[in-house]
Amino acid sequence: MRTAHETRCCVAGCGPAGAILALLLARAGVDVVVLEKHGDFLRDFRGDTIHPSTLEILDELGLAERFLRLPHSRAETLTLRTSAGDTLRFGFRGVPTKYPYIVFVPQWDFLDFIAAEAKRYPAFHLVMNAEVTDVVWDGEAVRGLRYRAADGEREVRASLAVGADGRESRTRDALGLPRVAASPPVDVFWFRLSRRARDGAGVQAVIGPGHFIALLDRGDYWQVGYTIGKGEADTVRGQGLDALRRSFASLVPALADRAGELRTWDQVKLLRVRADRLTRWHVPGFLAIGDAAHAMSPVGGVGINVAIQDAVVAANRLWRPLRDGAVPVEALAAVQRERQLSVRATQVMQEFMHRQLLARNLRSTSPPRIPPMVRLALKTPGLGALIPRLVALGINRPHVESPARAGTAAAGA
Ligand SMILES: Cc1cc2nc3c(=O)[nH]c(=O)nc-3n(C[C@H](O)[C@H](O)[C@H](O)COP(=O)(O)OP(=O)(O)OC[C@H]3O[C@@H](n4cnc5c(N)ncnc54)[C@H](O)[C@@H]3O)c2cc1C
Repeated sequence: MRTAHETRCCVAGCGPAGAILALLLARAGVDVVVLEKHGDFLRDFRGDTIHPSTLEILDELGLAERFLRLPHSRAETLTLRTSAGDTLRFGFRGVPTKYPYIVFVPQWDFLDFIAAEAKRYPAFHLVMNAEVTDVVWDGEAVRGLRYRAADGEREVRASLAVGADGRESRTRDALGLPRVAASPPVDVFWFRLSRRARDGAGVQAVIGPGHFIALLDRGDYWQVGYTIGKGEADTVRGQGLDALRRSFASLVPALADRAGELRTWDQVKLLRVRADRLTRWHVPGFLAIGDAAHAMSPVGGVGINVAIQDAVVAANRLWRPLRDGAVPVEALAAVQRERQLSVRATQVMQEFMHRQLLARNLRSTSPPRIPPMVRLALKTPGLGALIPRLVALGINRPHVESPARAGTAAAGA
């Protein structure tokens, strides 16, 4: 049996994009229903990097101070080095921001924090274990979302449906929105190894023959990203865990004594790196944001932050038409127009890094070196400030313009 209810905005997915959009709309007094297919926010090795742009947005919402009380680690510098010892360091010190560092927080803590804040607003409704299966049509326009709950199929009818359902987005597939796919040359194995005080800190990237290793300081452990060639996961697994341990130990001798902590393949999670972008993010009654509109490569750890910037722009542009009950397609197009340059610039920067740091190195058998183009890009006066700035803030970081309507927060919150 199918049951339906009505709202102003119905969002598929409570990841960073959906959660922030819903918080901003509810805060502005717009009724919003978020449908999340999982029963909780637990997910390992997802984007855990909160960049200066997101910290500034939280600051504008009066949430940064409380957010920074959650257990976290910080990185002020990024160190690029080769397994032969050549080193290049850059940081966020010159970036014009109140928060010149990256904060590492498990994504589930971030989402729990945002959802708890959103629940203070009576206009916010979160439905967990609700898997969106399709959009609801009314003539030429989308008028809501259909989802599967434990007790059967349901519909939410809404002035606007938002696809914030990530890189495997069901909604964008249902609508067949036109997409351009890039082809990042790598996949990544993620695993954890314990961290000791003498290991150093921050974010470190190690270029070695055939591999690129990312080491993220997560307090008492290192989150390790071990890149492999695209589609080679089964081959690497076939070579056995011992071969992986040996390869890692030779690339990062300082952590060789920790490689033995990898005891089963269950500890090693595969990220199939994908990057794409929709050329149109909307149809009447529907807008895609975040990874659903543009899946991001993990390079630079920007995915969450780009998704959140989409959500801020969507709330800025749409809270008023949503409150008034009709969202013209021009308003949806305006969201895409305002965001697409920043998204494209970030993807171009990622493609440059794929080519310079990842692809070239995977093929190379000669001693590893920091590519001259990367050194030039990071060390040339003026230009050198651009990459840290792009990673930290993106192009034209949006400000929160949607209002906090008086009386919208629940009493006692
Ligand atoms: C393994 C991995 C590691 C990553 N590492 C980083 C990193 O270090 N830093 C970084 O910034 N980015 C990283 N990313 C990318 C980052 O996680 C994403 O760019 C970011 O989370 C995008 O946010 P989003 O809200 O658009 O989508 P998502 O975070 O993917 O959220 C989508 C939400 O929709 C839900 N959903 C999906 N389908 C449905 C459905 N049919 N019905 C209802 N709900 C649905 C999902 O459960 C999820 O909660 C990583 C991604 C992966 C996969």
